[in-house]
Amino acid sequence: MRINNLPQEFKKALPVIDKLNQAGYEAYFVGGSVRDCILNLPIHDVDIATSAFPAEIKEVFEKTIDVGIEHGTVLVLHQDESYEITTFRTESTYQDYRRPDHVDFVRSLEEDLKRRDFTINALALNAQGQIIDLFHGLEDLQNKRLKAVGIAAERFQEDALRMMRGLRFVSQLGFDLEEKTQAAITTHAPLLSKISVERICIEFEKLLLGQNVQQAFQLFIATDCFKYCPELSDKRHLLRQMSEILRFPIEDLSVAWGLLIDQIAIDSKHQKAFLKEWKLSNQRIHEVLLLREALEIIKQRPLDVLDYYQLNETCLTQLFYIAPFYDLALSKESLLNQYRLLVIHSLKDLAINGNDLMRALNRRGGLWLKETLAHCERAVLLKEVANEREALLNYAQEFVNLRNKTAD
Ligand code: ATP
Ligand code: MG
Repeated sequence: MRINNLPQEFKKALPVIDKLNQAGYEAYFVGGSVRDCILNLPIHDVDIATSAFPAEIKEVFEKTIDVGIEHGTVLVLHQDESYEITTFRTESTYQDYRRPDHVDFVRSLEEDLKRRDFTINALALNAQGQIIDLFHGLEDLQNKRLKAVGIAAERFQEDALRMMRGLRFVSQLGFDLEEKTQAAITTHAPLLSKISVERICIEFEKLLLGQNVQQAFQLFIATDCFKYCPELSDKRHLLRQMSEILRFPIEDLSVAWGLLIDQIAIDSKHQKAFLKEWKLSNQRIHEVLLLREALEIIKQRPLDVLDYYQLNETCLTQLFYIAPFYDLALSKESLLNQYRLLVIHSLKDLAINGNDLMRALNRRGGLWLKETLAHCERAVLLKEVANEREALLNYAQEFVNLRNKTAD
């Protein structure tokens, strides 16, 4: 197969390949970009593989950065882009079911393509637009089939992460897992326990955000991969129920995690610990927990002014995205409008602060101050008092008087 009109991303990078060719080396576009080009999908990172050894790559180009020279990867800066150029390599002796012990640089493209995970990822494209397809990757692309290169069982024994990569490609591409590949994943799923949570999480998140999440999620369960992911091992039944509601793509990562903790019934006390086990960032955890709180409310009743005040625009947008999974129809415009219409959005917006209150009421700080401010805040939100200094100070004085009386 020949690609006549190379996509812009490749055209831009052609001089890099040409330079290597002129210096006497082979060089090809490889990996996801070739696959995505044939599928007419957007291309993100353009990876280049070459027969030149790292030191030789560095001789050919003026501007290079060593990003992983021990693995044969050199970053080449060309115009305003950077390209990862990796020497053809074989990987050997995977003693721990993850990452090879060491890599050997080789001069043969075939050796390099052989060590790749799936046939659709083992295509190479040369400067003339010719596809090199040694493992029937084109046929598999055509048939929408995800098939391991060579003997599937061996490939997953070498690197167990490939199983999770496989499931996420199913989700992203909507391909079927080839029978032997699926059988090998099911047999070797326990090896996932050797892989770090962080690396599993990257693939799992891509799986959750893929266009065909339902299909992939069902395979995640059917192959037993879920059993070797944090805190999921005893959740087969709940995960299966969850797979039923995944009828459309998930828009956002916090929505994905929010759905997961809700569907597998992680109670509020353990939600944070669950998300921490997955090594999510504090920022992500915060977003997910807030979304979950909003979801709990919206399942019962519409949000009121005080609810809106606890939330923010990001959370409300996520609430809009999560709602259809519960057959709730929310309007994003309306949610955001309600929020924007709040008289204040934080205590900072209140026309008085703690100092104003202490001065006006001639009192020192203490619990009364916190309570009075909270009372004013609430009253302003509920439009019981205007957000104006004089009105609020009077309102606060009344509240403090009343508070003192009840204390007597
Ligand atoms: P994406 O579009 O998400 O970047 P990708 O296929 O390009 O998908 P990368 O992680 O960027 O994935 O890897 C680039 C290429 O390197 C893959 O297409 C594949 O050929 C090879 N590769 C990556 N990870 C592995 C692995 N664990 N085992 C074997 N080959 C791999
Ligand atoms: Mg890639």
